[in-house]
Amino acid sequence: MTDTTPATAPRATTFTTYSPATGEPIAAHPVNGPEEVSGAVARARTVQAGWAALPASRRREHLLRWKKALAADLDTVARTIAEETGKPAGDAALEVVLTLEHLGWAARNAARVLRRRKVGTGLFTVHQRASLVHRPLGVVGVIGPWNYPLYTPMGSIGYALAAGNAVVFKPSELTPGTGVLLAEAFDAAVPGHAGLLTTVTGAASTGDALARSGVDKLAFTGSPGTARKVMAVCAETLTPFLAECGGKDAVIVTADADLAAAADAIVWGALSNAGQTCAGVERVYAVRDIHAALCERVVERAEALRPGAEAGAPYGPMTLPGQVAVVERHVTGAVSAGARALLGGPESVRAPYVAPVVLTGVPEDAAAMTEETFGPVVAINTVADVDEAVERANASRYALGAAVFCRSGRAGAAIAARLRAGAVSVNSVLGFAAVPALPFGGSQDSGFGRIHGAEGLRAFTSVQSTTVQRFTPPIALTSFAVPAATRERAVRLAQALHRRR
Ligand code: NAD
Repeated sequence: MTDTTPATAPRATTFTTYSPATGEPIAAHPVNGPEEVSGAVARARTVQAGWAALPASRRREHLLRWKKALAADLDTVARTIAEETGKPAGDAALEVVLTLEHLGWAARNAARVLRRRKVGTGLFTVHQRASLVHRPLGVVGVIGPWNYPLYTPMGSIGYALAAGNAVVFKPSELTPGTGVLLAEAFDAAVPGHAGLLTTVTGAASTGDALARSGVDKLAFTGSPGTARKVMAVCAETLTPFLAECGGKDAVIVTADADLAAAADAIVWGALSNAGQTCAGVERVYAVRDIHAALCERVVERAEALRPGAEAGAPYGPMTLPGQVAVVERHVTGAVSAGARALLGGPESVRAPYVAPVVLTGVPEDAAAMTEETFGPVVAINTVADVDEAVERANASRYALGAAVFCRSGRAGAAIAARLRAGAVSVNSVLGFAAVPALPFGGSQDSGFGRIHGAEGLRAFTSVQSTTVQRFTPPIALTSFAVPAATRERAVRLAQALHRRR
């Protein structure tokens, strides 16, 4: 739904979601305006203090109970995801499983990661005992995308709740039902904390209201263009902002790589979820010696795949109708700029489905190499060597994920270390996304900040540093009573020490 209502027109009170596969209506949801959003934030603020004051073990119990309830309800949650996104039921179920893994990790590790810990003091502060603690921020606003409508926002929601915050969640207007289900499951599993997690529904105007609502942090997942707009709103009130945006992930394939394994992973990484994965495979750089053999294997696997809505289809329709035109523009543009279509081509685009497209020889300045395609399209270009592959992989304004295929894991890790991506998998694709302890996030147009892992818990806290004076120091430098000569002696002593070490 595009929010184009003029300011003077009467506001729509509901909006309808439609099946991406059939175009049939699914459900109507309220368009929550500034009043509803502010109300949800105010309610969240009143219950957050009680949640934060609970012993960590109680919060953990509550969150694990919510996890168990979601696990028991896996089929219903997966059905809602599949219905709203059009993805195959099996993919939706896998999304729920990945989410449960993360929620469990956040619940079990929050107390350890965020607990008060002592830090060392210095020569002139030996009389102090120093410690720091991570405290919840208060109310966290979460704005989510539609491509992984549960897994992606839960990277913020689950971790923010585990860190002691309340959350107001604005799911994508394409997938509100998944967001509503999530908050309902929380209320049912965690009685007595109503309002701690609230889902508000609507499109851009509802997200904008959340950004203006006085939340203590806004965690946004979506496109870089929207991130810029939301960040500008947050800047007005200095609301901290976390941006998880798009990607143009590259895979590097070395001469000694297992080509069958690489091809298998590339096909899955590029085509699963109809290519609508932020850290999906969009570019491949294969060294010259093995380029043809790799392309042959990729095409062999990809040509067997046909998107559809029927059970067993490898992937479904494009979820966002408007994305079909982007995919078509990228494929057409690449071919007219001299790329060779090894499989499919512009004719593969038959909305709402796009059949697999494998391109090679795509000019590096074509949109298919520089912009996020977000469709089942992969470009496999030739490079002279690993150095050129690294250079090309890094020459993108996106820096989210990447993968390296290489005989030796150690050599692969050395190549990974040269990549700017926020996360790299060696000899698999998207391996990092399934490890809850690993932080996830990117830089440049892929956004900033991290979700998941210890960093993902800390992202929803502020640090308080404390010193407790254990005894009165012989030279109390923070007093006007200190004679100037004593202060001078202390300064010279420090100078002498620092010149030596
Ligand atoms: P989008 O930018 O169109 O929308 C994202 C969210 O922002 C939606 O909920 C939308 O309603 C809301 N929104 C739109 N305009 C707004 C405004 N002015 N103020 C406040 N909120 C507003 O993105 P999308 O199409 O939903 O998602 C696809 C994008 O998300 C892709 O670029 C994809 O790569 C990215 N993504 C990134 C990650 C990650 O973790 N890095 C994960 C999933 C998706």
